[in-house]
Amino acid sequence: MSIAEAQALTLTQGVPPRHDWTREELRALFDLPLSELIFRAQSIHRENFDPAAVQISTLLSIKTGGCPEDCAYCPQSAQYDTGVRAEKLMPLDAVLREARAARDAGAGRFCMGAAWRSPKERDLDAVCAMVEGVKAMGLETCATLGMLTAAQARVLKAAGLDYYNHNLDSSPDYYGEIITTRTYEDRLDTLAHVRAAGINVCCGGIVGMGETREDRVGMLEALANLPAHPESVPINMLVRVPGTPLADVPPLDPIEFVRTIAVARIAMPRSVVRLSAGREEMSEETQALCFLAGANSIFYGPKLLTTSNPARDRDRALIDRLGLTPMKTEQLR
Ligand code: SF4
Repeated sequence: MSIAEAQALTLTQGVPPRHDWTREELRALFDLPLSELIFRAQSIHRENFDPAAVQISTLLSIKTGGCPEDCAYCPQSAQYDTGVRAEKLMPLDAVLREARAARDAGAGRFCMGAAWRSPKERDLDAVCAMVEGVKAMGLETCATLGMLTAAQARVLKAAGLDYYNHNLDSSPDYYGEIITTRTYEDRLDTLAHVRAAGINVCCGGIVGMGETREDRVGMLEALANLPAHPESVPINMLVRVPGTPLADVPPLDPIEFVRTIAVARIAMPRSVVRLSAGREEMSEETQALCFLAGANSIFYGPKLLTTSNPARDRDRALIDRLGLTPMKTEQLR
């Protein structure tokens, strides 16, 4: 595919987002010269967003460790010896204290993560109380609790949940190398329940897990061809945690990570693309390139569930140096 043909693929002004991306088209975007790819992604970004605005989320682990699933990247799986202890669900007042601190530090969205295969009914009641309390502080709410039934999604919606995170993780082809305890289809079912309940979808994946570029293409194809694009698309760089099966996977070239962000921006022009896990080990220059390539959200706060994230003052300094500003809720489309 020529650069001109690739340009035609990426014109989005006034055109509804596409859901019929082919692997060939996405592969061609990945193959563009980096300057061309970033130019395309940045142009699309500007058509759809304020280029200086960055959405800021804070993620809290409300129930850590002891998860029965076997996600090969995850230190919270009970199947791996990573030193993460299984804990009980946090009490409501402790969660609300953390949410207040996140809001006062500048977060616009508070995400609550629990290491469950799926929530039990009594756990769901407790999470609903957290959602109501966090929302009452003026924060957007997000939860990631594992697989949901249609009825559970409706209960969370009734409690006021704004976003539900459930990632596809990788391409359908590579997925079986990473997780065996739930299927790709299970994930798509949960996403459909969340969407049907009227909750915004947060769904992305992880790169650097030893997958090929074709798998990265396949992951973005699966995301971009969902019936509706996720409102938030977190793109994570694997954090290699000792004790997990992926502890010794060779690191991914940061430029390939930037390309993945750029292709996500082009394929899902109106989604907020979040530069998620892995920033702690990423240079500030790589992060700046990711923002240029169309990323417009970060997790803010020193911890991402159980792995570390850049300290708040380091992030504040980076945001200032790059001239970025926190995105207001009404700027989200
Ligand atoms: S990623 Fe989630 S579902 Fe998978 S092992 Fe970790 S906590 Fe469990």
